[in-house]
Amino acid sequence: MSIIVSKFGGTSLANSKQFLRVKDIVLNDEDRRYIVASAPGKSDSEDTKVTDLLYLSYDLAKHKIAFSDTLEKVFNKYEEIVNGCGLNLDLTKHFEKIKLELEEGKDRDYIASRGEYLNALILSELLGYEFIDAKDLIFFNNNGNFDEKKSYDAIYEMSKKHKKAVIPGFYGSMPNKEVKTFSRGGGDLTGSIISRGVKTSLYENWTDISGFMSADPRIIKNPKKIEVITYKELRELSYAGASVLHEEAILPVTAAGIPIEIKNTFKPEEKGTIIVPDTDKKGPSEITGVSGKKHFSVINIEKIQMNKDKSFHRKLMSVLEVNGIVLEHMPSSIDSLSLIVADKYLTGKMDTIETELKSFCNPDKVAFKSGIALITVVGRGMKNSIGTSAKLFTALAASKINVRMIVQGASEINIIVGVEEKDYERAIESIYDAFMK
Ligand code: ADP
Ligand code: ASP
Ligand code: MG
Repeated sequence: MSIIVSKFGGTSLANSKQFLRVKDIVLNDEDRRYIVASAPGKSDSEDTKVTDLLYLSYDLAKHKIAFSDTLEKVFNKYEEIVNGCGLNLDLTKHFEKIKLELEEGKDRDYIASRGEYLNALILSELLGYEFIDAKDLIFFNNNGNFDEKKSYDAIYEMSKKHKKAVIPGFYGSMPNKEVKTFSRGGGDLTGSIISRGVKTSLYENWTDISGFMSADPRIIKNPKKIEVITYKELRELSYAGASVLHEEAILPVTAAGIPIEIKNTFKPEEKGTIIVPDTDKKGPSEITGVSGKKHFSVINIEKIQMNKDKSFHRKLMSVLEVNGIVLEHMPSSIDSLSLIVADKYLTGKMDTIETELKSFCNPDKVAFKSGIALITVVGRGMKNSIGTSAKLFTALAASKINVRMIVQGASEINIIVGVEEKDYERAIESIYDAFMK
């Protein structure tokens, strides 16, 4: 019997109807043995994710504002799932404990983790699988970094004892046993870590769409599906903004070469997207996909003959480091360069950064420009095809979109362009039309 790890996202576990769908899917293939569960997501567009409600409850409790109504909404969701699935499971003790913990000021990560904890508990009951808490399988070291060896050893040992199990996604534990969560959407990472630990042959990631699309379906209506995509391409597209899979989810499975399949819980019969280490198969066109994000800023720095000052770049980087700023890109010319950074790193720090840049780097001019969107065009076929960038820029020019910045990734599988935020959706549309239609 081989092993499949199946992760079900919040979109697939939002209510009892979906739980019953998930049950059918899991029991339909006896290889689906390790199931990773997210917290309930939105049942419809008006709904709120349980994780968001838990964060809100935590914030209210912290400020000594009544949080019971918010927490009640969370509990009601679980009640509906338990009752709708016809389970004989009493969660009252768990609810009372969470309420008390909020009152006593339990930490934010722990409170958020209860979303997946309770959902996994219910799913294990529904499937008749063992419940194994992620705090006993996924470990962080004292620096808060993922402890690979300890985690993979524990997961492998667990797989020898339990042939089938449900594991909550999104969190693990610190050496002092405190719960720590991954960043948002981290259930995908749990699935990937469990896959590596149990040495699976396939990691299935079940969501609400039949695969990874060549463009964001919220911008392009019915975009073409990507049938096969490489780890590297997927990582570029996810990092750039395609939110279907957590941008770090590829990392644990990479060394083991485990394929990931994106599947649709609502249409399980449809073919999904398969993510592989490498492939000879051609993509949907010379590009595999396009994705992007808004909310970036450019810091333009001018200094005549900056290259002659050997310590210029070091001083520049130290200003960024001291201020905790992550640099996205740094296109440059002889007498000027641009630092592209996410807006969130500049909030409340712009004056300090300007002052420090002026005093340490002695530039002729420093200017900030916000409202930038970055768009990444990705394709393994790009390396060997002439004219991809010509096609890209012709398409943008034809739509009268002003390109503020261009970066060609060193891996030669991506081209990044910066445009004004107001042009973002139009730019994605024109790129999609040029390459995919
Ligand atoms: P889950 O709850 O299963 O983790 P997510 O909401 O995190 O699901 O991810 C699925 C969503 O990602 C889809 O509903 C879709 O709107 C969005 N998405 C963004 N970009 C893409 C893309 N390129 N392909 C597919 N889905 C995308
Ligand atoms: N529930 C968490 C979130 O909403 C983790 C996940 O869904 O993967 O971010
Ligand atoms: Mg997700």
